Formats: sequence, C-alpha cells, structure tokens
Amino acid sequence: MAGRFIVLLGPPGAGKGTQAAVISKTLQLAHISSGDIFRENLKNETDLGKMAQKYMNAGELVPDDVTIAMISERLSRTDCENGALLDGFPRTPAQAEALAEKLAERGEHIECVPYISVPAEELITRLSGRWTCRENGHVFHAQYNPSKKDGVCDIDGSALYQRDDDKPETVANRIRVYMDQTSPLIEYYKENQLLFEVDGTKSIEKVSELLLQKLNA
Ligand code: ADP
Ligand code: ADP
Repeated sequence: MAGRFIVLLGPPGAGKGTQAAVISKTLQLAHISSGDIFRENLKNETDLGKMAQKYMNAGELVPDDVTIAMISERLSRTDCENGALLDGFPRTPAQAEALAEKLAERGEHIECVPYISVPAEELITRLSGRWTCRENGHVFHAQYNPSKKDGVCDIDGSALYQRDDDKPETVANRIRVYMDQTSPLIEYYKENQLLFEVDGTKSIEKVSELLLQKLNA
C-alpha cells in the first residue's frame, strides 16, 4: 500500500503546526516539523543546531543542503514507512525537487498539498501572540487560543515561552523570506495539481474540519 505523504504549506503563523497536531493524530501520520527539529537541535547544542542558529535568529532560511539532509534522514525512520505530514518543509523550489526525488526513490509521491492562506496583517498578530511549549512545541495564542493556566502547556504541563524569532523585527523578515522563497511553491504545486487552498482565517476548529473533509474524501 502506498504511504500518505502530505505537505502543509502556508506562511509563518498560518496555523500549520496547530493543524498538523490535529491531522497527524486523526490520520495517524508522523508529524514532521522542520522548525521543531531545528529548535530541538538548538536546545541540545548539536553541531546542526549551532549551525542553524544564526539563520533562525535572523528569520532567514537554513541552507538547502543541510535542511534536505536533515529531513531525508527523518523520513527514513520507521515511523514514516506509511507516510508523513510535513510541516515547514519544503520551503524552497530546491527542497521541493529534493523531496519529490526522495519519495520517487522509494516508489512514493506527494498525495496533496493543503495550502493554509492567511493575509500578512493577520500573521503579525498571530506570531506576536504565540506562546510555544518548551518540551514538545505545542502552541497557544494569548488571545485566540490561550492555555488554561498562564505560562503552562495544557498538554504536557511544561513552561510556555515566546520564540525569539516571533519578535516584530524578525517576523517582518520571515514574512519577506516566505514571499520571496516559499510562495513560488504555491504555483509549483498548483501546476502539479496537488494544491488545495483552505481559508486559514477561520477558527482553528473550522480549519481542521475543512482540511479533514478534503483529506478524508
Ligand atoms: P514558522 O512558525 O514560521 O512556520 P518554523 O518553526 O517552521 O517557523 O521555522 C523556524 C525557522 O527554522 C525558520 O525561520 C528557518 O530559519 C528554519 N527553518 C524551518 N524550516 C526550514 C526549511 N524547510 N528550510 C530552511 N529553514 C527552515
Ligand atoms: P505556523 O506553524 O504556520 O507558524 P502556528 O500553528 O504556530 O502557525 O500558529 C501561529 C499562532 O496562531 C499560534 O499562536 C496559534 O495558536 C494561532 N492560531 C493558529 N491557527 C489559528 C486560527 N485558525 N485562528 C486564530 N489563531 C490561530
């Protein structure tokens, strides 16, 4: 049986991580977040983490060769035998090509690319109110999705923090980087007839419902 490889596309703050948590659980797929893997490496002070840090702090992309190698390794693990939900990768045309090649080598292909669209003004509000959990990267929002207890993750009880790259100067650059380097993937996947768009300005629950409706169809 072919695996299900699904790529979540959308600007920073669109809700990819939030939705990936719901979808991966419902569809029982491994959730692969490139940002979470980089942050884990940063926390553990690995060579990869030290290398990625300056790019992440500046809101720039980590170079393609490093990112592609990291995700290829992750996809080769047993929990991805039957597919994966990719969140934050690919982010450049070169990454998209590499992913297609890696999957083709194992007789697989991308099933579809849900694109969560949210206008830029809203992204700034989303990112500046985002609180992330230290242990597992669960996300909350000060107004839109507050944790039950201030500063504590509802799911695993660990401390919530505001990501360094969620401060306004870095956010502006991340949105620029997305426009320049990642948004061309919208056309790329449209041409490949893999893309479907979901209105990411709806409530978290509504967006999940729209995504799952399509993915279960
Ligand atoms: P966002 O909340 O914007 O989706 P992520 O957690 O996905 O942020 O990514 C945080 C940072 O990690 C990015 O700004 C970038 O520096 C790095 N990063 C994550 N994924 C990639 C990728 N596919 N290619 C290059 N850099 C990446
Ligand atoms: P991404 O992974 O695309 O960067 P996140 O899932 O981390 O985005 O969401 C960014 C912020 O917006 C988080 O604080 C999250 O709680 C909040 N958020 C996510 N989806 C919605 C939504 N549909 N409506 C309002 N806020 C949302």
